[in-house]
Amino acid sequence: MISDLLLRAAKNKKLENLVSGHPLTKGLVHRYVAGVSLDEAIGVAQRMNSEGIDVSLDLLGEQVEDLAESTAATDQYIETVQAISDRAPGATVSVKLSQLGMAVDPQACAKNLDRLLEASAAVGVVVEVDMEHSSVGRPTLETFREALPRYPQTRVAIQAAMRRTPEDLESFTDIKPRLRLVKGAYDEPLGRALRDRKEITAQYLFLTDWIVAHCPDPAFGTHDDVCIEHAKKAAAAAGLGKRDFEFQMLYGVRRDVQRHLVREGYRVRVYVPFGTQWYPYLMRRMAERPANLLFFLRSVVGR
Ligand SMILES: Cc1cc2nc3c(=O)[nH]c(=O)nc-3n(C[C@H](O)[C@H](O)[C@H](O)COP(=O)(O)OP(=O)(O)OC[C@H]3O[C@@H](n4cnc5c(N)ncnc54)[C@H](O)[C@@H]3O)c2cc1C
Repeated sequence: MISDLLLRAAKNKKLENLVSGHPLTKGLVHRYVAGVSLDEAIGVAQRMNSEGIDVSLDLLGEQVEDLAESTAATDQYIETVQAISDRAPGATVSVKLSQLGMAVDPQACAKNLDRLLEASAAVGVVVEVDMEHSSVGRPTLETFREALPRYPQTRVAIQAAMRRTPEDLESFTDIKPRLRLVKGAYDEPLGRALRDRKEITAQYLFLTDWIVAHCPDPAFGTHDDVCIEHAKKAAAAAGLGKRDFEFQMLYGVRRDVQRHLVREGYRVRVYVPFGTQWYPYLMRRMAERPANLLFFLRSVVGR
């Protein structure tokens, strides 16, 4: 219930203006966001690398409203991949296609993605395509599918909660893509998505087995112990070594688990968001853990 309200609040522009401008939200933002600048994000990447953790940098921003904004975001992403290749080797970038203009002009968005993929391939950086709300989910997958033969190293996120996911996976007949399996962070109608947490977890476990059997270099984006332990067992049963797949977690979430997995010899990648457009991202993080809401409300009212 509270989670649903927070996910709706994530789309509310008035609330965004109110919360984003409030100096007292800084503490909470700081927990989940690496900083506002690329330099700060690279600094975090380098610190994590020194602990044996890889990163994926996410330039915050989504649902741009015109093509100029989508071009500017693409340019910033290209600047980011170039900085990564010089200063944080091994890092990837994660991008939302709504930020590259999917909701404004899907063809222009595909061109922006192509420009980013070409620039990234030129410097050996991998791009990961985030999966957003179902309103842009299908075009995101189709745009990814078109780019895949030219850039097979690209990874796409898929959401266990979405009812169409097994069918989507089966539809990749020629090339099986590199995937990041996540539970799904958006407010979706029951007709399109599972809503019950137990059902979503069960589907996550089922898809884990499918992915280790069919897809190269899988990534499991989760902080859930049940999902983590299942992925370890499924990978081992499929004959994969500890370095043949990776766990991905969010910056600021379950740091103890991230370090523990590294000590056990697993690959870990942390998703590191940076930039000024943190509001919808932060709301989704709070929806995942409503206990954060109290802390957040206290910070907004300053008590
Ligand atoms: C690397 C990465 C990339 C992602 N990319 C996408 C994407 O492209 N599209 C998409 O829809 N979703 C994405 N997500 C979000 C994902 O869908 C889930 O909403 C999120 O990971 C919470 O699910 P969980 O598997 O961690 O399990 P949960 O059962 O939600 O959490 C397990 C435990 O982790 C901890 N935890 C989880 N979330 C938080 C939090 N926000 N704050 C504090 N503690 C927390 C708690 O201890 C909780 O008990 C991504 C997640 C990760 C880790």
